[in-house]
Amino acid sequence: PLRDGVVTDDTRVRASIETLQRLIDGGAKVIVASHLGRPKGKVDPSSSLRPVAQSLEEHLGHPVTFVDACLGKRVEEAIASLSDGGVLLLENLRFEAGEEQNHPDFARDLANLADVYVNDAFGTAHRAHASTEGMTAYLEESYAGSLLLSELEHLDIVRNPKRPLLCLLGGAKVSDKLAVLEALARHSDVLAVGGAMAYTFLASKGQPTGRSLVEAERIPDARKVIDSAESSGRKLLLPVDHRVVDEIDESAVPEVVDFIPDDKIAVDIGPQTARMYAEEASSAATVFWNGPMGIFEIPAFAEGTRTVARGVAESEARSIVGGGDSVAAINQLGLADQIGHLSTGGGASLQYVQGLALPGLTALDR
Ligand code: ADP
Ligand code: MG
Repeated sequence: PLRDGVVTDDTRVRASIETLQRLIDGGAKVIVASHLGRPKGKVDPSSSLRPVAQSLEEHLGHPVTFVDACLGKRVEEAIASLSDGGVLLLENLRFEAGEEQNHPDFARDLANLADVYVNDAFGTAHRAHASTEGMTAYLEESYAGSLLLSELEHLDIVRNPKRPLLCLLGGAKVSDKLAVLEALARHSDVLAVGGAMAYTFLASKGQPTGRSLVEAERIPDARKVIDSAESSGRKLLLPVDHRVVDEIDESAVPEVVDFIPDDKIAVDIGPQTARMYAEEASSAATVFWNGPMGIFEIPAFAEGTRTVARGVAESEARSIVGGGDSVAAINQLGLADQIGHLSTGGGASLQYVQGLALPGLTALDR
């Protein structure tokens, strides 16, 4: 997460240090490539990785050269002038359409910059993109980094959980996440839904959602998740009360309601729901959480996320929290050291814990 060109939560940067440091210590010329946000194949200055170079430099205690391109003459020149143990960060890979298209030309050109490939981007392993999948075909040596390996180790706890397993799901990426939730509904003993995702679920049950974020075309998927949970005898919990506002605004004072009025937007789960979810956490043996319960970036809408986070932190359960914003919320609340594992992957962790194949991992195996 960034705000005004500064990294506001450096969890993912810190998590990448171990592998980078080993490569530096080994005398490699390290070309770091990554993405940020969803610029959709076009240059978008607000998604530049430049602020990340600064954060990386601080955490490595080692200079990091930044070049505002990922291919081409300037990149080649920057690589040529790298010393052994030197670090170069390329510009956002998603500024190039070939990255998400997994275009073979782009994958080959990226691969040609280097001799050896290391994938430490667990959070993108569920995508078959040029930098996560395509380029391995053009390199003789491809490896998993230590972050990626450690993520798999921790997420295996959710894959083969001590039961009862509680999965808490929220956040805004409804269409991304709903598609993989059906299996998760069957895998978990209790699935508790909050965040914007909850309103697509409520809509699928014919409940009022006002002007809350609902993805109409995903309502059938939500229905399937509910049916899946029901037919396998699992518990699926949806919010029973809500914090609503007229407009999403820092100064708005939310009102607690049981049913969302037509003209209101739900921005957080209500207190009764938050207590119910926190109680579920206290009786679970394993908790997996992805996605905040409300628009937690605005303090007045963070109460639900806060209550649930405290419940998870205080629980004896083994807890794994995944997703950029979810982890940021935990850090903001100062609860990080009471959580078993903070995963750098949101969508990837969702996909992995239910036993689905991840293209980035399959490519490394190959
Ligand atoms: P993660 O990064 O943890 O995987 P997402 O990116 O899916 O989570 O979602 C995080 C975003 O969801 C946050 O920016 C938060 O403001 C937003 N969000 C949560 N609840 C709501 C809501 N009720 N309406 C709109 N946005 C929401
Ligand atoms: Mg996010």
